[in-house]
Amino acid sequence: MAKQINVALLGNPNTGKTSVFNRLTGLNQKVGNYPGITVEKKQGICKLDRNIKAFILDLPGTYSLNASSIDENLVIELLLNKNDKDFPDVAIVISEIENLKRNLLLFTQIKDLGIPAILVINMSDRMKRKAISLDVELLESILETKIALISCRKNLGFEELKELISNYNQLSLKPCLDASVIAPEYFDRLRKAFPNQDLYKLWLVITQDVNFGKLDRKVLKGVASFQIESISNLKRLQQKETIIRYQFINNVLGKTLKIDTENAKDLRSRFDRVLTHKFWGYVIFFAILLVIFQSIFDWSSYPMNFIDNSFASLSKWFKTTLPPGDFSNLISEGVIPGLAGIAIFIPQIAFLFLFISILEESGYMSRVVFLMDRIMRKFGLSGKSVVPLIAGTACAIPAIMATRNIENWKERLITILVTPFTTCSARLPVYLIIIALVIPEGRVLGVFSLQGLTLLVLYSIGFGAAILAAYILDKFLDIPSKSFFVIEMPNYKLPMLKNVVINVIEKTKAFVVGAGKIILAISIILWVLASYGPGDFNTAEEIVRQQTISQNLTKDEIETKIASFKLEHSYIGIVGKGIEPAVKPLGYDWKIGIALISSFAAREVFVGTLATIYSVGNDDVETIKNKMAAEINPVSGEPLFNLASGVSLLLFYAFAMQCMSTLAIVKRETNSWKWPLWQLFSMSAFAYVVALIAYQILK
Ligand code: GDP
Ligand code: MG
Repeated sequence: MAKQINVALLGNPNTGKTSVFNRLTGLNQKVGNYPGITVEKKQGICKLDRNIKAFILDLPGTYSLNASSIDENLVIELLLNKNDKDFPDVAIVISEIENLKRNLLLFTQIKDLGIPAILVINMSDRMKRKAISLDVELLESILETKIALISCRKNLGFEELKELISNYNQLSLKPCLDASVIAPEYFDRLRKAFPNQDLYKLWLVITQDVNFGKLDRKVLKGVASFQIESISNLKRLQQKETIIRYQFINNVLGKTLKIDTENAKDLRSRFDRVLTHKFWGYVIFFAILLVIFQSIFDWSSYPMNFIDNSFASLSKWFKTTLPPGDFSNLISEGVIPGLAGIAIFIPQIAFLFLFISILEESGYMSRVVFLMDRIMRKFGLSGKSVVPLIAGTACAIPAIMATRNIENWKERLITILVTPFTTCSARLPVYLIIIALVIPEGRVLGVFSLQGLTLLVLYSIGFGAAILAAYILDKFLDIPSKSFFVIEMPNYKLPMLKNVVINVIEKTKAFVVGAGKIILAISIILWVLASYGPGDFNTAEEIVRQQTISQNLTKDEIETKIASFKLEHSYIGIVGKGIEPAVKPLGYDWKIGIALISSFAAREVFVGTLATIYSVGNDDVETIKNKMAAEINPVSGEPLFNLASGVSLLLFYAFAMQCMSTLAIVKRETNSWKWPLWQLFSMSAFAYVVALIAYQILK
């Protein structure tokens, strides 16, 4: 009688499991469903030689043994349950040559479970075109396994594979990694509680959401109640396991896998070669950024003007329709200008996200990450820091959360600390209005708009500050660290319109809703503070009439004088006057000072604040920009927003840490107040000094 063995085909989706299955079993197949669920169960028979008959099982694609779907859970249940009739005598882990890094994660996990495992590397037919070479023998000896390098397409390597399956009982069962390094203390306790069990298996059972009923009771006795770690801690440890495994894999592949990208011949490689080229890669990236910023300015001016005018008319409409009084004033002078201050930037923010998501969807963004890794390394950052830094152009909050996939703590902390320097969309409103006010409209070389270039410069300054700060932090932060880099290069594809549109809507909505709440609240508070005041405020009319009695002023001129007297003597005026000495050297008056202070809640409040301040007591409803342009510096008699004060403001906003939500996120991600407070003070102090120098030089 021939010996019968169970063989399970495992691997990531699309590595060629089904193709291998078909090659091994030919027509000897049976397709059914796993009991109780509708995942296809394919079984087949392969006669290895006269003495061995292999029952081959084609399992659903699995990325790791940390289940996240029913399909994956099914695979894990099978591997954890020795009593299952399908439990494999040997596991064949199928990987493919182009994604070995990701594929090997699953392999090391399966091997560490103590199941005899063969590593199949499929799609070897692609190696030549992609100029990939692999030291199979060295890889076999490091992983202590047997490897079959095969190609289903070309039908290569199957005799060797069958041979390896026949000799499965000669496979080494030694784990790739000592599981207890995941959490030494925790594993110690596990070992004491379950002295006779396999630790890694216990660990998987505890961390999985496995269906206990189906599993071997003896293994699990008491395990379910072994609750000495919280769920979130277990999740964290699971992530740590993945990181440790990737560190191991990276190290192994560094020694065995070579990709000679210079000589690869396929179209994707050709593209990659240009887009990640040491010189042209950067030129292309920079050119793309330039086009993006240019379009943001050119295309969005029409919808912006429309929104600006609509809010102005809305404000007017409320003012004339509602019965005059505090409520009418609150709506037309507080709420609507505040909302206008944010709505006006929706077109630009939407365009920015449109471009970012097209770049992401097309696969280009991963090339940028790869390209920038060369630079980032030199500054104590990881190639993966580029993702937060680019995401930071939208908002620092999701960007800081995106640092979670940086494995090295020091690199991650540095990335968190410097990300707020990148130009987030909240700065955009401030930049745009000030650029429009102080930078002339001309063109450079007849094509590039001066204003667009200025914006590009500001983005570069933000990025440069982040890099420089990282460099300094890298030198001064005393945290021991080991570094490595895992990135997947997806194939290029045409962006799917639906994905792009959804992304744009989601991000814009998040910005509008998130910022909108704060802005609305602050607009109302500011309006109250600007509309009421102590002492002189309440007798403003009499005082002004007394003062101007000898001058021959028109009614309008007197009204304006009264309004500005009131603003100066309101609560907010008092605060603003109080801080004026501190902001005067930067070229600002007390009104800008107020906007600056309120911006520490969130930067985008700046425009809304000025809009509110300039609206109070000002009956003719003009657009925000016109009001700002009309402001005169009482000392110099020149426009308040001129080149010197404008540049000084731009630089202040580029560097200062003005966002409460970001500080809260940094506190959460670093688990201490030390880092956010440090960010707040050092960044803002730096901003002050730079703005001061800029104004003093330019004035
Ligand atoms: P599964 O999801 O792991 O079952 O993978 P499949 O067997 O369905 O194969 C996924 C894709 O890879 C299919 O398009 C196959 O044609 C392709 N494929 C499988 N083996 C090879 C191979 O050896 N070389 C190449 N170039 N493609 C392969
Ligand atoms: Mg399949």
